Parts: sequence; structure tokens; C-alpha cells
Amino acid sequence: MSIDPQGLADTGCAGQSIPRHDARALLDGAGFDLMDLLGAAGRVRRHFFDNTVSIHVLDNVRSGACPEDCGYCGQSKDSTAPLKPYKLKNVDRIVADARAARDSGAFRFCMAASGRGPSATDLNVICQAVERIKAMGLRTCLSAGLMDEAAAQRLKDAGLDRLNHNLNTSRAHYPAICSTHTYDDRLATLRAARAAGLGICCGLIVGMGETYDDLVDVALELAELKAESIPVNFLLPIEGNPVANPKCDSKPLDPSLVLRVLCMVRLVNPAAEVRIAAGREHHLRSMQPLALWPANSLFMDGYLLSEGDTAEQTIRMILDAGFVPRLDEGTWPDRVRKMIEQGPTPASPQTATLKLGVIR
Ligand code: SF4
Repeated sequence: MSIDPQGLADTGCAGQSIPRHDARALLDGAGFDLMDLLGAAGRVRRHFFDNTVSIHVLDNVRSGACPEDCGYCGQSKDSTAPLKPYKLKNVDRIVADARAARDSGAFRFCMAASGRGPSATDLNVICQAVERIKAMGLRTCLSAGLMDEAAAQRLKDAGLDRLNHNLNTSRAHYPAICSTHTYDDRLATLRAARAAGLGICCGLIVGMGETYDDLVDVALELAELKAESIPVNFLLPIEGNPVANPKCDSKPLDPSLVLRVLCMVRLVNPAAEVRIAAGREHHLRSMQPLALWPANSLFMDGYLLSEGDTAEQTIRMILDAGFVPRLDEGTWPDRVRKMIEQGPTPASPQTATLKLGVIR
């Protein structure tokens, strides 16, 4: 089947999802050139977001000791990954983390608390932190497990902008990754967030043994939910997790598949903030900058449980690729502002070092 990437971009620029059969064909990778697809996805991304990149920083405000059995998660009771669990941070500590994130150039501060869902005490702490972080000029997002509309409403009243709750995979594949809660439980939390007036951040994890059809299913579900923000994670092989061998459609992940998945998610959800999330450094390697054609957002300074590129490396990559960090929110420190004003990395003034070995 031959694919017309520019025809798909026309559909996306009109704000419509591409049809299921086209989304599926993009994952196969046959009948089109990857650079043409990136150009098409990049056109849609620029239509809605110009050349800006929203930079997010994650803060794991509580780690580990979770009674759920999500097989991909090192914080689950079933994981033997060598993590050090800790209790919910206090309000001052969360606010200090947010200040540091703001000072390194973050646009949004994303808090994640392990566990099935927040207790009343957890909500008190988180709501107080959200109020103070909002006063700093940072946008906020929280991931805290399952919750009902009353809890979502409390967070909304405290000033939370978005609730993150990932579907992670398709309805059909969900039982293969978790048994302690269901896909419908997750959908119910997302509906509660929506009813409370919160924005929805909802994404997926690629590489958990799903098929290409599963990926298309979850991308279409996100379009149905009108998710404003879609983090696309690529499974990191963490020893001790039950799901630790990144494979999709029975094949290992490679940079080309990662880019095709991001383009598919962009073209199914043209106006959504598509974020290249965990696994960007590991699975894309030298191809990382190309992810900015379909994606308009990323994390810096690592992920919940793993290290990632630093603020300087991330901002430098964005600038060198011809994009600009989004500056319309938050206070940028001089160091970061200077990097942005300077633009792409100038060539080193030093002359190249020649190899002076003897040719035999
Ligand atoms: S509920 Fe959240 S913290 Fe707990 S195991 Fe699942 S993903 Fe991990």
C-alpha cells in the first residue's frame, strides 16, 4: 500500500485524525520514505505549535511501595528493581524542587506520586504545593493514580492545570500488563478529571509486547478523549520489572520505529501536545533531534526512575535542530536565556585535530 504523507498532513492541518488504515500503515513503514513522513508530521506540528518546544521536568514526589502490579513499573510491589522507596515529600520540599525546575528552564512542573490513588492527607499536601507552585508562574501537572471527581475537583480548586493518567496501551493488551486495576478504571479517572475541568495528559508506553494494532487503538482512544497532552514513552529495559524486554509487534524497538510511532500519534492527534517521553535517549540515540518534527514537547533532566539528558544538553539539541524552547511562561534564568538568544551552537574556534599516525 502506498502512502501519501502530504495528503495525511493536509488532513492533520485541518484538525482531523487520519483514518485507522493509514495510521496502521505508517507503523509498517513500507510504501513511503521516513523523511517524507517526518516532513508531513512536522508540517502539522508547525501548524499548531510553530517551532516551539515545551520543556517539562518531572518530580517523583513519592517513590515505590505501590500495591499495584503494573508490569512495566519499578515502583510496583512485583518489581525487584533496586529502587529506594520514599514517602510523600513535604510541601516545602516539593516547592523547592519546582523552583529548581523553573530555574533550569522548565515550562511545566509534573509531579508524580506512586500508589493506587491519593489519600485525603496526600491531597492536602499536594494541593498546598500546587497553590505555591502556581504562584511562581509554572504550569502544573499531577500523576497520582486513580481518583474520583471529588478529588479531581479539589486539585482543580487548588489551581492544578492538568491531571496525568496514562492509558499506556490498548484495552485488548491491558490485562497483559496489569491485573490490579482495569483499563476502564483508568478511563473513569480521566472522565473525572474532565468533569472537574482539568486538562488531560494521557499517554502510552511503546514496547510492552503490544502489536501495531494495539498502538493504533490507543492513539485513536486518545483522539476520542481529546487529550490535550500525550506523553509517548518507549519502554526502558529495567532489570527486575516483569515487563522489561522492549518489543513491539514481536520486534525490538529501533529509531525508525520510534519516529514512525511519534508521527502516527501526531497525525491521529494533530492538535495535541505530543511529548517524546521516557526512552528518548535510549531508543533514538543519534536520531533524537528528528523526534522534534512530530513531537513539540519533551522532558529534560531525566524521568521518574531513570537518568536522561541534562537541561543544557536538551536545550542545545532543541536550538541546534532549529526549534526554540517555549518562553511564554515562567522565569528563565540568565544562563538559559543566554543559550536561547545565542541560538544554534557556533562552530568551535579551534582548528580540527588531525590524526598524525604513520601510514604503513
Ligand atoms: S499504579 Fe503507578 S506507581 Fe503503582 S505500579 Fe502502577 S504505574 Fe507504578
